[in-house]
Amino acid sequence: MPLRICQIAAEVTPFAKTGGLGDVAAGLSRALGKQGHDVRVFLPFYARVVKLDFPFVAVDFLRDVEIHLGARKFTYSVFTARLPDSAVDVYFVHCPALYHHDSIYSGEWDEYLRYALLTRVALETCQRMGWAPDIVHVHDWHTALAPIYLRTIYAWDRLFAKTRTVLTLHNLGYQGVFSSQVLEEIGLAGHSEMLYNEDLAAGRVSFLKTGLLYADALTTVSRTYAQEIQTAEHGFGLDALLRARANHLVGIVNGVDYGEWSPESDPYIPHKYSAERLEGKEATKRALLEKIGLPVPRQAPVVGLVSRLTSQKGLDLLFDTLPEFLYHRDFRFIALGSGEERYESFLSWLQVTFPGKVWYFRGYSEELSHWIEAGADIFLMPSRYEPCGLNQMYSLRYGTPPVVRRTGGLADTVEQWNPVTRTGTGFSFDHFTPEGLRWALDFALTAYRDVAAWKQLMLNGMAKDFSWARQVRPYEELYRRLAG
Ligand code: ADP
Repeated sequence: MPLRICQIAAEVTPFAKTGGLGDVAAGLSRALGKQGHDVRVFLPFYARVVKLDFPFVAVDFLRDVEIHLGARKFTYSVFTARLPDSAVDVYFVHCPALYHHDSIYSGEWDEYLRYALLTRVALETCQRMGWAPDIVHVHDWHTALAPIYLRTIYAWDRLFAKTRTVLTLHNLGYQGVFSSQVLEEIGLAGHSEMLYNEDLAAGRVSFLKTGLLYADALTTVSRTYAQEIQTAEHGFGLDALLRARANHLVGIVNGVDYGEWSPESDPYIPHKYSAERLEGKEATKRALLEKIGLPVPRQAPVVGLVSRLTSQKGLDLLFDTLPEFLYHRDFRFIALGSGEERYESFLSWLQVTFPGKVWYFRGYSEELSHWIEAGADIFLMPSRYEPCGLNQMYSLRYGTPPVVRRTGGLADTVEQWNPVTRTGTGFSFDHFTPEGLRWALDFALTAYRDVAAWKQLMLNGMAKDFSWARQVRPYEELYRRLAG
């Protein structure tokens, strides 16, 4: 029996993406659609999405609809378009008063309004379509109010009588905490007894915590992260609550969209390749180095990094390790990313200090990220914490063994290379210290010298299957269990 599944998210690739959330919302929805479920996805019609060259169609009966958030009145319309390579409809909430910002996240005071509105409009659109979802699946703090809305504002509507909710935690580092003065506007002033008392007493309300309290099921994006967030070290203050709801919490590793991330068919890379025909990888490495103007080494490996430059990604470890390694060892280092100033200036400094060995591009580039996954020999991901991580799974598929810290999804997806048995897919270190990274990087650079063993390592990783076609199953099982 197909299920009716409503997904509500702040990002959906390719329309709006800043990180893994967008990839997951799209990949999971597409895979569910392929399984025959009726999936409808809701996303803001951000100004930058409006500008995309996409055949958006206005939904006739959802034009200029009024909605009140406290004393504020907004008017919205809904547009729709197909999620590429799927039969899934995405519904875009058009409300220029809230979504006019250039970037996806406004970073301004109105963030709570932007996502409270998205969540409410998604539920109200279900009502107007007369469409009773079996599952409302929400993601991160942005849409985490859906479960409480269904128990309060929309509790009267029989349409939702059988609806069950799932909240996926992609990153606990972001919780959507606002002044409790916004209660009226987010529609919860009359339900403060249902909110976390301590927070209210301190004058705050947390979107994410509210979701944790009322979602029927909680998921997070890897098994290890599901355990880690129940500890004080990784729980961001929510560990006690998560322990209390541990019976309702499961870890499901994210899938990878191999339609987009496969060296056989990647439209961005100049030479396609596969496990059977690896020559294209060497040619891509050469092309990458030529493209960015680094001398092509005879045997030295290229170490690649593609990342948001935040402390989560473990970049602090690079300060103490990379200069020393670049001085003593023969390899190239290519980095792509933007974020915090100190990391950007460190990478720029490396580039100046090690000319011909280091190249850094500050910014966001879909194309370059594919080139680096394909053209590098080793992928670097020393995260402090990593709920799931996609890049290491991409790098496995591209025959670019990753060097990772054993945390969260990195622990679940990268198996330690064993040069004796020639098993394993990458290099992982336990302790978040420069010594830890030094050990793993040294292990990788040394292993690279054994050409035959390295090829086996690449093939081991390329054979792994983290496709959505596979990872969608535990979600389906969960939905079915909830839907009874
Ligand atoms: P997170 O979601 O925490 O940023 P993930 O590894 O789960 O980390 O996903 C990161 C995604 O964002 C990957 O698809 C990666 O290629 C992409 N990405 C990150 N930074 C950049 C960048 N500067 N340019 C292009 N893509 C990037």
